[in-house]
Amino acid sequence: MPELPEVETVLRGLSKRALGRQIVAVEVLHTGIIAGDAEDFIQRVAGRTAVEVRRKGKVLAMEMAAANTPDSSYLIFRLGMTGQVTIQPVDTPLELHTHVRMLFRGGKEELRFRDVRRFGRLRCLRREEFEALFESLGPDAQRVTEAEFLGAMRGRRGAIKSWLLNQQGVSGLGNIYADEALFEAGIHPLAQPDRVSPASARRLHRAVQKVLKRAVNLQGTTFRDYIDIEGRPGNYIQRLRVYQKTGQPCPRCETPVRRIIIAGRSSHFCPRCQRRPRHVAKMRGLRTPGYKRS
Ligand SMILES: [Zn+2]
Repeated sequence: MPELPEVETVLRGLSKRALGRQIVAVEVLHTGIIAGDAEDFIQRVAGRTAVEVRRKGKVLAMEMAAANTPDSSYLIFRLGMTGQVTIQPVDTPLELHTHVRMLFRGGKEELRFRDVRRFGRLRCLRREEFEALFESLGPDAQRVTEAEFLGAMRGRRGAIKSWLLNQQGVSGLGNIYADEALFEAGIHPLAQPDRVSPASARRLHRAVQKVLKRAVNLQGTTFRDYIDIEGRPGNYIQRLRVYQKTGQPCPRCETPVRRIIIAGRSSHFCPRCQRRPRHVAKMRGLRTPGYKRS
């Protein structure tokens, strides 16, 4: 599922290939993929020129300017689980599950949105709506300062893994990079944010940024569906250390990696490098049958 590094890779692709270009026609093949009215979406996008691409967390926004009005509109991409944004020659055969096509001026290339699972969404917002959307998200995980990060953890109960995923404390992390960052920082996924020591919290802040930076440099992680704007997969998969490595030796201490379910999502961790803090033993209802006390 696309997380910050994958979305950042798409952003860089759009910056290179879409900025300064006018979209002259829009076709929506599956209206369910548009948040709001599809007719309205087409009206608001067609004829406009892409002038800027921005990202906060996993949400991507392309600012679209029009010649006849000073008001920009904002094309919002949410990639969901399997969303793909590509720019292709118009005569490339349409792949199954392509839901939206946007033709660029000149008639040779188009932007396509494809999404097998259909959890992704496109929408077009006015400036105020766009600003409200970005403000509703926690600080971007790649840009969040240490003070903001530590401040956001304060008073937070529950599992730190869930906190990393909820997009309020920080935005941009999903299951892959949350597991990798917790491993990097040596923090158990069930640790409670407000009980983590300041030193560990600072280590986690550094780990989040280190893991994300490396992943962005390798164009993200592809398990199955994620591709960049040119259709290429990401290369970070070889660098994963615990994510989906259940039973395999920890790269640091060789203890088998464990998997537990936290709030319905898998968490992968090394039980030796990421010791369970004492306060976690008191938490109930989070342990699964496969999770033995150590
Ligand atoms: Zn280990």
